[in-house]
Amino acid sequence: MAKSYENEHPIKAFGWAARDTSGVLSPFNFSRRVTGEKDVQFKVMYCGICHSDLHQLKNEWGNSKYPIVPGHEVVGVVTEVGSKVEKFEVGDKVGVGCMVGSCRECENCSVDLENYCPRQIPTYNGYSPGETLTFGGYSDIMVTDEHFVVHWPENLSMDAAPLLCAGITTYSPLKYYGLDKPGMHIGVVGLGGLGHMAVKFAKAFGTKVTVISTSANKKQEAIECLGADSFLISRDPEQMKAAMSTLDGIIDTVSAVHPILPLLSLLKAHGKLVMVGAPEKPVELPVFPLLMGRKLVGGSLIGGMKETQEMLDFAAKHNITPVIEVVPMDYVNTALERLLKSDVKYRFVLDIGNTLKATN
Ligand SMILES: [Zn+2]
Ligand SMILES: [Zn+2]
Repeated sequence: MAKSYENEHPIKAFGWAARDTSGVLSPFNFSRRVTGEKDVQFKVMYCGICHSDLHQLKNEWGNSKYPIVPGHEVVGVVTEVGSKVEKFEVGDKVGVGCMVGSCRECENCSVDLENYCPRQIPTYNGYSPGETLTFGGYSDIMVTDEHFVVHWPENLSMDAAPLLCAGITTYSPLKYYGLDKPGMHIGVVGLGGLGHMAVKFAKAFGTKVTVISTSANKKQEAIECLGADSFLISRDPEQMKAAMSTLDGIIDTVSAVHPILPLLSLLKAHGKLVMVGAPEKPVELPVFPLLMGRKLVGGSLIGGMKETQEMLDFAAKHNITPVIEVVPMDYVNTALERLLKSDVKYRFVLDIGNTLKATN
């Protein structure tokens, strides 16, 4: 059983929570911690609905701690700052992504890779020091250590909240694996919340982008709306054969189990296949195609705080925003049902600021 905070914030918090594995959300009254010396308190304006919210609400990863207030794509406005806060002032626009704490002293933390800290504290469904449960952005206020808060660029629309998870999840591997060089040819597998952001960032880096999908359904949209250069249907052997050894890298966003041999065949020598989706079961890894061409299969998880800020500034400069459907708070259960059926282009964003109404 999670404990409550020793020092609760005098202003009560309100949000929507799931109480059990049904994953159904309903209104929930709770308390945040009092704003500490290094904390920023902010009013939540928008929060994206991420596919991982769905998994955790229903305990599909087996680690859910109820009640769960989801939300890790959170954008808001600062309402209070602690006495030692250096980076923020009341009134600043801010964002909080997938984590709200880390050890701050390990090998990873010391090089701005808090996302790989073994003691990283997730924004929700995790424990703060003191054993209190963390609650996410499907709520009216948040209190977060300033180190895990980013500045929201002035010319970036506040409802572009999915940049904080879907955005950084695709930006970071393109940079880290060197797949951001103009003239490269990049494949993006799966055109959902993550995939559509991968296309936009890869295009902004000046690469040629091919979307790889099981059906032709999304072809027109990928090319006309998202700016992809070409579209490849993975179930069409002719097309796949013609595209063999043409890609420098692939960002694979699919979270269902799927064969990766066809993808490895698309890579040039030294090509890199980067997985950012998380299939529940292991995928089969054919080694022979890796040897033939010194290819690499890697993974990547969100990004550190410094890189998250860099990504937001880049997005603002290049006018990169997610394609979203903004919905009111009381639509959340319907939105989750539709997300389960992939019935959204490409991300739902909850309009918390205008539609979350406290009830007692
Ligand atoms: Zn997410
Ligand atoms: Zn650490």
